[in-house]
Amino acid sequence: MKRNDILIIHGTDYKEMAKKILTAADVASDIGDRGKRVALKPNLVTASDPSRGATTHAELLDGTLEYLKENGFTNVVVMEGSWVGDNTQSAYRLAGYDRVLKKHGVPFIDLQRDSYHEYDAAGIPINVCDQAAAVEYMINMPVLKGHCQTVVTCALKNAKGQIPNKEKRRFHTMGLHKPIAHLNTVVRNDFILVDNICGDLDFEEGGNPVVMNRVLGFKDPVLCDSYVCDSMGYSIQDVPYIPLAEKLGVGSSDLTKANIIMLNEAAEGMGRFHMTRRVQQLASYVDAKDACSACYGSLIYALDRLNDEGLLRKKSSLICIGQGYQGKEGGKIGIGRCTAGCEKNLMGCPPKAVDIAAFLRENWD
Ligand code: SF4
Repeated sequence: MKRNDILIIHGTDYKEMAKKILTAADVASDIGDRGKRVALKPNLVTASDPSRGATTHAELLDGTLEYLKENGFTNVVVMEGSWVGDNTQSAYRLAGYDRVLKKHGVPFIDLQRDSYHEYDAAGIPINVCDQAAAVEYMINMPVLKGHCQTVVTCALKNAKGQIPNKEKRRFHTMGLHKPIAHLNTVVRNDFILVDNICGDLDFEEGGNPVVMNRVLGFKDPVLCDSYVCDSMGYSIQDVPYIPLAEKLGVGSSDLTKANIIMLNEAAEGMGRFHMTRRVQQLASYVDAKDACSACYGSLIYALDRLNDEGLLRKKSSLICIGQGYQGKEGGKIGIGRCTAGCEKNLMGCPPKAVDIAAFLRENWD
């Protein structure tokens, strides 16, 4: 897999989706030596069931651990440190990791309890936990979601779990963006497996999940977070740590050079999820007929951007979306190639939130 590749898979069998992404990326060859210390770093920011949109699904850990076992890796651990104020051990149990790790015989390292040392992170001294620093191949497993302070959070910010609590507090006093960018000059990001199953609309701790039913794979954390901005209808300028990390040489934000590899087509349906009232309010502007979750979720993110701009109240026509519109004429405005028969239509399968938001600003009345 090249650094500009972006792997995408849709569906609801999350464990198999994780395995397929790792296989397509040939992570086993990328790791090389079977004795290397490999770590999985999920997002366990808070004690919360992954269906609420804050934490990495246990099925992704299950698929990744099975893949590593099948490929002969024996020195594997899972590590994380929750945010200050939450207990990593409780978060670990609530997310269902205890069962998965027991099944695979893999240890869990609570980084909140680890020792640490200071590193020069491109001119800023930052303490990093010793167990994280000793890893030889890091599989970063963030959740794609919104964040009340940094707007979005994914690969770059997930590295914050590798620092001690006192450093997390200092990051907040420093305004988060600069220290997050600098931290990524000293931590490993060998492969990024993104949980884009149902990340939250705008809060790190979840509560308003937006169902996308996707898993993504990246080699470059800056490219990953830039793609996340597009997926949620933001610009990277809205998230200052992304261009700053690029400036520090962590990766590239140039999505025009990205090579998007779809391992399958978007799948219809929402799986086992239900919409919260807040998501339902955004969905009240939509007339969906058999919409794929990735398409529908992208539209919800786009409508949330329009809501931020105060553009929702003036709208009257419902937005058509979904496979039920395929080959049919009618409807004022439609999103996705299935709604090509609408008077106004944005093609794509699925289109990205940033493009949907731009299209609706111009064409929706
Ligand atoms: S355009 Fe149609 S097929 Fe493609 S993702 Fe959207 S609803 Fe699914």
